[in-house]
Amino acid sequence: LHYLMWFRRDLRIDDNTALSALCDKAQKDRAHVSAVFFMTPKQWQQHDTAVTQVDFIARRLPHLAQALKDKLNITLTVAVCDTFDDCAEILTQLCIDTDVTCVMANHEYEENEINRDTQLIANLAEHNISVIRHHDQCVLPPASITTGEGTMYKVFTPFYKKWQQHLDVSPMSCHSPTLVNENTPAPVTSLAEALTKKVTHADSKSSIDTLTKDIVNAYQDDWQKRDALKHINIAEQLARTRDNYPADMDAPEARLHDFISDDIDDYDTHRDTPHSHATSRLSAYLTTGMISPRRCYLAAIEHLERKRSNKDSDETDITRWCSELAWRDFYRHVLCDKPELIRHEAYNKKLDKAVDWSYDEDDFAAWCCGRTGVPLVDAAMRCLNATGFMHNRLRMVVAMFLTKDLLIDWRWGETYFVQNLIDGDFVSNNGGWQWSASTGTDSAPYFRIMNPFSQGKSHDKDALFIKKWLPELADVPADVLHSEAKLNKAFGDKDKEEKKKDKNKQKDKKQDNPYYDIDYPAPIVDHKAARKDTIATFKDSK
Ligand code: FAD
Repeated sequence: LHYLMWFRRDLRIDDNTALSALCDKAQKDRAHVSAVFFMTPKQWQQHDTAVTQVDFIARRLPHLAQALKDKLNITLTVAVCDTFDDCAEILTQLCIDTDVTCVMANHEYEENEINRDTQLIANLAEHNISVIRHHDQCVLPPASITTGEGTMYKVFTPFYKKWQQHLDVSPMSCHSPTLVNENTPAPVTSLAEALTKKVTHADSKSSIDTLTKDIVNAYQDDWQKRDALKHINIAEQLARTRDNYPADMDAPEARLHDFISDDIDDYDTHRDTPHSHATSRLSAYLTTGMISPRRCYLAAIEHLERKRSNKDSDETDITRWCSELAWRDFYRHVLCDKPELIRHEAYNKKLDKAVDWSYDEDDFAAWCCGRTGVPLVDAAMRCLNATGFMHNRLRMVVAMFLTKDLLIDWRWGETYFVQNLIDGDFVSNNGGWQWSASTGTDSAPYFRIMNPFSQGKSHDKDALFIKKWLPELADVPADVLHSEAKLNKAFGDKDKEEKKKDKNKQKDKKQDNPYYDIDYPAPIVDHKAARKDTIATFKDSK
């Protein structure tokens, strides 16, 4: 017997539900286990997957291959086929050619992924080959937390209460797969042999390393041809994410361990301060499945138990962090309940359609490049462009600014984020954007619009974050950077050409404005006026 583990967004061995189930089954049935991962660059392009994320996945695969070989005796074959359609076709043929009778995988909840699986299941059913999928992406699987009527919650808080109750009553554990392929004959034709002459592939650590690097280079070349992203220095993004996000097998567990020992106890206090690195930075590992959300939850709960046994009663920080994992679950459960969200349809369709969204390309370009004249927004965007990551508080600030101050369609911002984030994840990203645009489930009320200047004052008091990413503002005091009026005074009329031509006026200007020479724009929008207009627009739309 020959069984196949199909890795997707679950690039790990520990607590991988499908892998553990397959190994158990193989042990019982005395079957041989092989594993496969498909790189699908054209499909990723269609999904706008960031180069940094493709690179992250590519960097993981050689490590995964080696660990599977060392720990479980399983050979991982990495194959390249452009799209999900090709993938379903190749995988069908691969199963037939290598006498596979059972394929196991973990569920993916997005539409193209579901269609691919449906196609594959239908293809394989004709050959009596079974495909078994497991829920693995959430702490608690979709549809397991419902109202008394069995429907999905529309609001997070009651969902979260039930989520917690569920976990209190049935505590969970993580599973590790058992050793396989001992005394089980390998298939007559290996995956690599079956793929020869069909698609490019590799099945050893070094050949996977070479293959995946080639794919990333080609993906990066294609990416750089995209006009909308010309201002981004992808080489810089890649260099930084390679430093900040190691992809070896121990990296996510080490990050979780460091967060729990150093930061979780202050999470609630410091999590909104972008400069302090007080959050876990596990999102990219969770998005690609390099760590399981259950493992993260259990590590936090074990820490909580330790605190309780030491008579330390302050649980706020730990439960706050667990609630973030619950938000991640919540948005996944919402997508499974409303699959149309994947087509960028709003949760609140009526409101979304009634708002007269702007499609102003100049405003959008200013936002993307970090040239809106609003320091916190610009610093956050330049940080994203350089590092492929943005802090959660800043994601909310820039998303609100785009959708409420500039009234630009949230879909534009949603796409730009996925194109740049190493943790880009359709579900959490869509949830975050619709929260900010007030078109989502349990989203920010339309009249509660964040003021980006007071957000700066509250969360970046000394402007340390702003100055890091906007070095041209290094000598401008924080009180100027957090005040719309002072920014207008400092940078307001510099662009007026006629003043520039008049040398005397320029000299005068420099005397009464020390920031006159700094190349930084005045705010492109008047926040108070924009807020008033937006509230009126949403009120009318309702
Ligand atoms: P921590 O604060 O340590 O939180 C732990 C984990 O909980 C995170 O790793 C993440 O998996 C989850 N989490 C935290 N906050 C949220 C949230 N609001 N919604 C869903 N899950 C959450 N998260 C992504 O993973 N991918 C995205 O593409 C994404 N896009 C976003 C877009 C917008 C407009 C907004 C407002 C939020 C978005 N988020 C996204 C959620 C959140 O900003 C990130 O998960 C978080 O900043 C990651 O940092 P961390 O790992 O240090 O988080």
